[in-house]
Amino acid sequence: MKPFGLTVLGATGSIGENTLDVVARHPERYRVVALAAHRQFDKLLEQCRRFRPSYAVLADAADAERLEKTLRAEDIATTVLSGPDALVEVATLAEVDGVVAAIVGAAGLPSAIAAARAGKRVMLANKEALVVAGRLFMQAVRDGGATLLPIDSEHSAIFQSLPAGFSGDLESAGVDKLVLTASGGPFRTWPAESLAEATPDDACRHPNWVMGRKISVDSASLMNKGLEVIEAHWLFNAPPSRIEVLVHPQSVIHSMVQYRDGSIVAQLGSPDMRTPIAYALSWPERIAAGVAPLDFAKLSSLTFEAPDLARFPCLGLAFSALEAGGDAPAVLNAANEVAVAAFLAGRARFADIPRLVDGALSALDLAASPDLDSLLHKDAATRRWVEQQLPS
Ligand code: NAD
Ligand code: MG
Repeated sequence: MKPFGLTVLGATGSIGENTLDVVARHPERYRVVALAAHRQFDKLLEQCRRFRPSYAVLADAADAERLEKTLRAEDIATTVLSGPDALVEVATLAEVDGVVAAIVGAAGLPSAIAAARAGKRVMLANKEALVVAGRLFMQAVRDGGATLLPIDSEHSAIFQSLPAGFSGDLESAGVDKLVLTASGGPFRTWPAESLAEATPDDACRHPNWVMGRKISVDSASLMNKGLEVIEAHWLFNAPPSRIEVLVHPQSVIHSMVQYRDGSIVAQLGSPDMRTPIAYALSWPERIAAGVAPLDFAKLSSLTFEAPDLARFPCLGLAFSALEAGGDAPAVLNAANEVAVAAFLAGRARFADIPRLVDGALSALDLAASPDLDSLLHKDAATRRWVEQQLPS
C-alpha cells in the first residue's frame, strides 16, 4: 500500500508533537510530506532530522533560509519555505493526502480552508477556524469533496458515538442531544474573588491535559467549551438547543450522544490526545496510538455537575454569539485571542477576558452573512478594538 502523504500544520505544538508520536509508530503507513511551525526553529530542525519531510515552513524568511542551510549541511534535502502563503502551499500539494490542522487561532484558517477546497482529509484540531468561518469552511469541504475529521477529543467522541455514515441529519439519526463534557479546568472550585486574581501559571496548570498556553487559558475560562459548542454546531449540523455542556472533572467520558429512545452512547478513554489523533489519521480503521487502556478498577468515581455560567461567563457569551450568527463568532474569537494573549503577557487580568469579549460583541457592528474577506476584516477590526482597551 502506498503510504499516506501527510502535512502537519503546527507541527511543533502540543497537537503537532502528539501527531508525530503516533505517526512514528507507523512508518509504513504514513509519509510526512511537510511540517510547518511558527518560530520554533530548534524543534522544527529536530523534527526535520527525524522525519525528513519534502517541505518545512517557518514564519520568517531569514529563519527559513537558516534552517535550509543547516539541513543541507547534514545532507537532508528538505525545501524550507516561509510565510502564510507557504502554509497554503504545503496544505494543497498533490502528494498530500491529509492535513493535520493544528495551528492555534484564526491564523490557521486560510491553510485549513485551502486543504478543504483541495479535497484533502482535513484532521482538524484548530477549532478557531470553524468558529471564525464555520459556514464557509463547511461549504469548502463540500465543494472540494474533502473529508473533515475532528481531532478535538469531545468531537472525536461524538463522531465515534454517532451512527456510522452519519449524514448531518440529527433528526433522522434519532439524536436528541449532543452532550459535550468539560473538565471544568483548574478554577472549577475557585470562588469568583480569587478568579479575578488568577495568574497565567494558575490558568495553565490544567488538572488532566497538557496543552498549549492559549487553549489552557481557554479551558480555565470555559471559553474552550464555548468554542467547542460552536465547533459541534458546524461539524454535526446541531442547533444550539441540542448541544448541552456537562462538567465532568475526571475527563474519562470524552462526550456523549443522547438518542430519543433513552440510549446514551459515550466514548471513554484516558485523557490522551493521541487517541483522537490516531482515529482521525486512520479512520475508518484503528491503529495503535501508544495510549494505555483505561483501568476501571483504579477509577474511584466519575462525577458530573452543571457548568457555572456566573463564574464562567465566557461559555454563555459563546452560546449567545452562536445564536446571533453571522460574524458574531468571529468577533468572539478574535476578542478572546487578544484578551488571552494580553492575560498571558501580564497586561490584563483573568476577569478582563470575558469583559473584553462581551465589550467587543457590543461595540462592533455585526454582519449577517459575511464572505471570507469581510470575516478577516472583522477579525482585524476586533483585534484593534480590544488592543485599544488595553493598557499600552
Ligand atoms: P500550541 O501552542 O502547543 O501549538 C501551536 C502550533 O501552531 C505551534 O506549532 C506553532 O508554531 C504554530 N503556530 C502558532 N501560530 C502560528 C502562525 N501564526 N502561523 C503558523 N503557525 C503557527 O497549541 P496546541 O495546544 O497544540 O493547540 C493547537 C490547536 O489545537 C488549537 O486550535 C487548540 O485549540 C487545538 N486543540 C488542542 C488540544 C490540546 O490538547 N493541545 C486539544 C484539542 C484542540
Ligand atoms: Mg476539546
